[in-house]
Amino acid sequence: MTNPPHDVNLVYAQVPLEAVADRFRFSVDDDGVTVAGACPRCHGPTSTTFPKGLVGTKGFPRLRRGGDSTAELEAAASAETLFCECGFTHAGQPEDTLFEGCGAQWTFKSAVGGAA
Ligand SMILES: [Zn+2]
Ligand SMILES: [Zn+2]
Repeated sequence: MTNPPHDVNLVYAQVPLEAVADRFRFSVDDDGVTVAGACPRCHGPTSTTFPKGLVGTKGFPRLRRGGDSTAELEAAASAETLFCECGFTHAGQPEDTLFEGCGAQWTFKSAVGGAA
């Protein structure tokens, strides 16, 4: 399966997308859960790491409780909203943005059972 090329001509816009099916890879290591894949809007490569034990962040009760099975971590990460972090400065991107990308945000379609 080949992904479309990164659309670097896309103008930055904060666009909430529908839940995205599992086009993303989860990987778990000592730092936390990294979710990597292609942005569903600009198709650039994006990768977001959710640190384990991050306090005060919504959506990670399992991480805060110290649950660290891969399934638990993936379920917790699946509840998070992801932002495009393709690293490209799309036209119109605010200077103070936290996420260098096209502005898209999305959640996962809950492919992992028991995430609720
Ligand atoms: Zn993007
Ligand atoms: Zn991009």
